[in-house]
Amino acid sequence: MEIDYEAVCGYERMTEYLSTIPERFPETESGLIGMSILGRDIPYLRIGHGKSASLLVGAHHGMEHITSLFLIKFLEDSLSAERSGVKIAGGFDVRYILAHRSVYVVPMLNPDGVEIEISGAETAGPLRDRLISMNGGNLNFSSWQANARGVDLNHNYDAGFDECRRLEHAHGIYSGGPTRYGGEYPESEPEVSALCRFTRFLCPNLHCAVALHTQGEEIYWDYLGSAPKDSRMLAECFANVSGYQVSSPEGIASYGGYKDWVISELGIPAFTIECGYGKNPLPPSDFYKIYEKVLPILLTAAAF
Ligand SMILES: [Zn+2]
Repeated sequence: MEIDYEAVCGYERMTEYLSTIPERFPETESGLIGMSILGRDIPYLRIGHGKSASLLVGAHHGMEHITSLFLIKFLEDSLSAERSGVKIAGGFDVRYILAHRSVYVVPMLNPDGVEIEISGAETAGPLRDRLISMNGGNLNFSSWQANARGVDLNHNYDAGFDECRRLEHAHGIYSGGPTRYGGEYPESEPEVSALCRFTRFLCPNLHCAVALHTQGEEIYWDYLGSAPKDSRMLAECFANVSGYQVSSPEGIASYGGYKDWVISELGIPAFTIECGYGKNPLPPSDFYKIYEKVLPILLTAAAF
């Protein structure tokens, strides 16, 4: 099956595309990290042969499904380059990198949120009516970022949760909705607890974790000044290969995220990359333009 990178990619298409990779490249390992609230599997793929590993995660947010395609294209390009020995993205020797490193990829952490954003509340089965009420009675879900319970997954991690809650209240957020509600307690959502469990499992050999979001062409690397010593240097490497800007989060975006939890609980460099520039959801026709800058970031993370 030919992968169309310039078309909207929902959950089903993502899993179809992903399943073609181990067929073409049997050296890859594939599996599941867990399930979403609505019972959708959350798959991962592993490439490379080294003990030391990096972890790349896409689509925490419903409107950001293009990031799943960046990761699938990264897998395809890396495996092809490993096979051919050809250097890519301005000189990365992927055959060498993957001989010494492994890369774990979770392309779509929030499959329910992606489906709701693309196709509306009908995709949410028994949660349909509750979702519509969380969306203020509106049947248009094109700005939906959360999971099917209205929890913003990137506010549900155990990092400054109380401060996150205080800021939610300051923004008038007290319950589930399209964005920013952090849930009842840290890791309350199955998608988040699955990723935390998977990250803890990889932790002894994990050298960095990267979560792809859209948009802004920015690289976030710190959490309240507690980032490990290599974080800033690596963020600057990412900036050098992409032209993206190294940034510090402000306000409600400063707490409760995956990067924040990896840094503060595991002490491992972790990053939020805001891919592309424009208005979410970014148009599928921008895929190649954005991917060109994202690919060298992902290869740098793999090689570090
Ligand atoms: Zn996001």
